[in-house]
Amino acid sequence: MATFRPAMPAVGLRLTHRCEYIWGMFQSPRLFTHTAAEIPTAPEWAALHGFGQQVLRTDRSGLPLEWIDYREAVRLHFMGQVAYAFGSTLFRLRGGVNARSGLRTVVEVSSIVATTGQTHNPSARRRDYTPPLNNETLFKRDGHLCLYCGGRFGPTLLSRDHVRPFYLGGVDAWNNVVTACRRCNNHKANRTPEQAGLQLLAVPFTPTYAEYIYLKGRRVLSDQMEYLRAHFPRSSPLHCRAG
Ligand SMILES: [Zn+2]
Repeated sequence: MATFRPAMPAVGLRLTHRCEYIWGMFQSPRLFTHTAAEIPTAPEWAALHGFGQQVLRTDRSGLPLEWIDYREAVRLHFMGQVAYAFGSTLFRLRGGVNARSGLRTVVEVSSIVATTGQTHNPSARRRDYTPPLNNETLFKRDGHLCLYCGGRFGPTLLSRDHVRPFYLGGVDAWNNVVTACRRCNNHKANRTPEQAGLQLLAVPFTPTYAEYIYLKGRRVLSDQMEYLRAHFPRSSPLHCRAG
């Protein structure tokens, strides 16, 4: 009697570029299979973007949810939670050879994946959702410009200025904070812009969830940007500031 062999005996998933990734999940019908001769070669984008490139995850309806790395994207593929994918192909990963069919698994990860199942960001659907405030996303909201003198600075030379200072009852909220260079911030001190003789170059605003995802993105590809931009409010200042 023949010994039973599982359908997916090989668990080593080899990346076609630079590093390896061990994978122990079962094969999914969403994955491609090829004979050894059909295995595609590593495309140039792998060298171009590297495996640090983030993938934009959306829900099934296409609502942007979060950034994930390629490991999480592959996991979602294997779990059968990728409803559809679009955008450019970022990664192509080769799996083990199936002992029964002799075919090798190949997973392609696109720049945008729509997924089913639980989201890590249930607040994405709340109308009154306010993203957490931090300097990294604040500086990006304001295009790394000091909103008083208009100078562009690196993050270490920028600071968070409270337009209406704490001293006068101002709060630490998106619509009361702007990016300011240290010089302007020191000059303004515990005063309003009017009291300090300064003029704001742009009105601070609270990002929507889609805008916040853009602000959190480390390196947003053009197709991801185009997709996110379609979810920005029509009046969003980021239409102009985002590259
Ligand atoms: Zn300044």
